[in-house]
Amino acid sequence: MHPFSFTKVSDTREALDAGRDGGRYIAGGTTLVDLMRETVERPGTLVDISALPMREVTVTRRGGLRIGALVSMAEAAAHKAVRALYPVISEALELSASAQLRNMATIGGNIMQRTRCTYFRDVSADCNKREPGSGCAAREGVNRTHAILGTSEDCVATHPSDLAVALAALEADVHLLGPAGERTVPFADFLLRPGSTPNREQALRPGELITAVEVPAHPRPLKSGYLKVRDRQSYEFALTSAAVALHISRGVIREAKVAAGGVGTVPWKLPAVERQLIGKRPSNALWAQAAEHAADGARPLQHNRFKVELLERTVERQLRIVGGGK
Ligand code: SF4
Repeated sequence: MHPFSFTKVSDTREALDAGRDGGRYIAGGTTLVDLMRETVERPGTLVDISALPMREVTVTRRGGLRIGALVSMAEAAAHKAVRALYPVISEALELSASAQLRNMATIGGNIMQRTRCTYFRDVSADCNKREPGSGCAAREGVNRTHAILGTSEDCVATHPSDLAVALAALEADVHLLGPAGERTVPFADFLLRPGSTPNREQALRPGELITAVEVPAHPRPLKSGYLKVRDRQSYEFALTSAAVALHISRGVIREAKVAAGGVGTVPWKLPAVERQLIGKRPSNALWAQAAEHAADGARPLQHNRFKVELLERTVERQLRIVGGGK
């Protein structure tokens, strides 16, 4: 591990001052400390923001949900309002990591976590994300777990967060605070596709902090859930996953929110699947027909062609679980 200095701040002004001077924010530290040990990350200064007042979960006036950036994954997953309004968020969190990690890791840190591409974590391998311009060892290497959607010539790594898939499906916003003040970014614009700059992963400006994520109110009743397919049932990242939320009224699907994980360089929203569902009556035939569009535009690599069919089946199954049907 490279030497670094450490400072703990007690209010947002102090945090922003430290951030402006090039400090890296840290809260749970469950990603950053690992990467520092492996010398993938080498921050000169860590700024501990864990004492900042961002630990509340609140139902907004319009009936949406605001989750403070420093709420732990475990607290958010267990919160009554989260479970009642958006089970898809609780389920995505509960299927993530381990109990120990969920107690430490925060909501802000979860959406900031970095890829699990093994070449990214191996400092002897070529990796454009870690070392811009060095190449991508995964393209011709072992790429079974890599992305089939949103890839570029320069990077094919998946985004690892399950929560981010649920937030993408629900069209959440990210609240930010920086030297220039507060701003809100739609979640769809917050995480960046790799393009020619895979080292740039979020639409954050220098010194900005995530203060909260906010899920808008959706028409109720809203049934939702998260399905994760992985090599083992615990403490493993998704090969494929599906976040689904459906508003069904008088037997007709009025609203459909669907996103996939484990397959995209960012959480992958599925508008073509959503369009197939709106205005139709739930049925097994409809789920199958809609899920045929889940992998539209996929560009599989040598070892991950299986993800195309697995994604379609994952989406179909989760539509059936959430929406019922016959
Ligand atoms: Fe690096 Fe991305 Fe290639 Fe993995 S896929 S080696 S993270 S550039």
